[in-house]
Amino acid sequence: MPPRLHFSNTAMPPGRILFPPVRRSNSLFYCKEGAASTGTKASLRKRLSPPFKLIILMANCESEHSPLGGAMAPPLHTAQFRFYEELNFFLSEERRKRDFTYEFRGRPSIKDAVEALGVPHTEIEVILVNGRSVGFDYQLQPGDRVSVYPMFERLDVTPLIRLRERPLRRPQFICDVHLGKLATLLRLLGFDTLYDNRYEDHQIIDIAEAEQRIILTCDRGLLKNSRVTRGCCLHARRALPQAKEVIERFDLARWAKPFSRCTVCNSLLQPVEKAEVLHELPPKAAHYYNEFSRCSGCRRIYWKGCHYLKMAEKVVRLLQRPEAD
Ligand SMILES: [Zn+2]
Repeated sequence: MPPRLHFSNTAMPPGRILFPPVRRSNSLFYCKEGAASTGTKASLRKRLSPPFKLIILMANCESEHSPLGGAMAPPLHTAQFRFYEELNFFLSEERRKRDFTYEFRGRPSIKDAVEALGVPHTEIEVILVNGRSVGFDYQLQPGDRVSVYPMFERLDVTPLIRLRERPLRRPQFICDVHLGKLATLLRLLGFDTLYDNRYEDHQIIDIAEAEQRIILTCDRGLLKNSRVTRGCCLHARRALPQAKEVIERFDLARWAKPFSRCTVCNSLLQPVEKAEVLHELPPKAAHYYNEFSRCSGCRRIYWKGCHYLKMAEKVVRLLQRPEAD
């Protein structure tokens, strides 16, 4: 197991001799967890000043990389990374669309490495290391050349290993608490989309896991949870472009069934006879319209009023292919 290091931001005047369990290498000081009392470590931290740093090695640091086994710092390795297409969105400016060097110690999994760079694993479809497809558990080796590709919902990548299962035939979603308007739009298109502004993050993850739902969120932290296998981190900030993003990302246009689901509660709508609902209708609706449907969940009645035209326009805009915009 690679050593777990705790890096302290405080530093110490040069030349000070630390107590026996502490070793010094260049500008780094090492102290084994448990070898010094909390008070001692606190006073060490106070005495340190730049560019010296105190590193506390946790209890599981007894490995070949432990500087306590010799006087050496854990060796620092490098690998070359490149991220493709929209994954660049998650990277810092200087790392976008180019090869860059990633420094690491020990043998981190490739999943930990890409997440340390800011990219949630749920965004990734394929990782090639030195030209070969690898799984998330691959352990990064010094000198590796790593290419990371986003989800290819619309491209044939069968020769490559997919890191996720194949896309679900009938995608179902759960929106985080900030995406109520997006949930309404997806329901309008007929997609099974759960949303409740009282959901806690852990509840969203539980439901997604139990019901195989894709988590929709703008919070990449939520998708970094190891229990999340299907998620989509949205780049757009407004509901309409967000919905377009989801449709294009999962190639959903062909699955849409507009006006088949209640936009309020997500249940399916059933056609009903006018006579059956007449007593529940406002007078104008009763006078002008003849087709009605009722929500099987909340019992709301829907008809094709002027509101319908506005919604229909939205549906058309959402289902247009990007080139038709
Ligand atoms: Zn309803």
